[in-house]
Amino acid sequence: MPYGAGHPVLSGLPPEELAVLLTPLPGYRAKQVFSWISRGVRTFDDMTDLPLPLRAELGGRFALYSGEVSAELRDPDGTIKLRITLHDGYCVEAVLLTDREGRRTACLSTQAGCPMGCVFCKTGALGFRRNLDSAEIVSQFFRLREIAGDIANIVFMGMGEPLLNLGELRRAAAALTCGGGTGFSPRRITVSTCGIVPGIRDLAEHGPRLRLALSLTTADGELRRRLMPATNANPLPALKEALRRYQDLAGQRITLETVLLGDVNTRPQDAEALAEFARGLNVVVNLIPWNPVEGMRFEGRLLREPGAGEIARMDSQLKKLGLNVTRRFKKGQRIGGACGQLGTLGDGETAKPDGGPYR
Ligand code: SF4
Repeated sequence: MPYGAGHPVLSGLPPEELAVLLTPLPGYRAKQVFSWISRGVRTFDDMTDLPLPLRAELGGRFALYSGEVSAELRDPDGTIKLRITLHDGYCVEAVLLTDREGRRTACLSTQAGCPMGCVFCKTGALGFRRNLDSAEIVSQFFRLREIAGDIANIVFMGMGEPLLNLGELRRAAAALTCGGGTGFSPRRITVSTCGIVPGIRDLAEHGPRLRLALSLTTADGELRRRLMPATNANPLPALKEALRRYQDLAGQRITLETVLLGDVNTRPQDAEALAEFARGLNVVVNLIPWNPVEGMRFEGRLLREPGAGEIARMDSQLKKLGLNVTRRFKKGQRIGGACGQLGTLGDGETAKPDGGPYR
């Protein structure tokens, strides 16, 4: 029963929790089970160094993964998006991106829907359903790896705000970074937040020391409140202070993600505000041209992609202001798998009569 509901799921458990759950089995058995899960076996029967009766017993008591893959969409550019239906019928998405060098990155979701309501993001428009548990997060990774093979990086940039689900994010990261399992380096895992100050502080003080990306979008506080209304409780000065603390303790460069919205946050003063916000921090600015989602509006106006000239202007102005700038190239747009599009249907997919799979 690899994906069953109603059975405790093993795949998201850090090894010490797994050992407790499997008591009175000896510790070495728990290590064997953990190691098999990390290799991505589909059933307990595949755990060939366990005695047959034990495999049968475990199979009757536990499930290995959470959720069923209910859609697999492939973009001609190599991006793969999985839609995973959870035991209660909610859907989440996980995306596999491949860069020019062939390195694969798994983009995982931490919530079903999202409570933050950023106006440029389809997931925000869906509203919030619930937090995912660690098994539901880690299972996305294993499903992507099963399809694609080795994965070099993990980014928590899928559906949801990871720092509003920090406990389960921590458990998932512990399961993924443990030496006896997939052994992912924390330096190859990035958490992307829209700027939850208490969560950044908590992560800074108590770890794990993952890479941090801030979805800043604009450093004009007034515009940010309108574009990302739920960030009101996390004003920019407090946010900057939290980033500084994170940087002091984790010693890492932070990515400032800036979704560029045509005619909204691409003005010269936006570049200046961004440079002012970045002053004193070790950051790289990642410019992300908005990926279109039909019908999305900002204060009554339809959002639009920034033109090539707008992007180039921002890029060069930010560089002139002394910032390190990278550009995100479009990936997965045709399957609704690009940044801000999760929760949309892909080309050729049709919504169910109830409006789609995201009930
Ligand atoms: S951008 Fe991130 S935080 Fe904002 S609504 Fe979308 S998923 Fe949520």
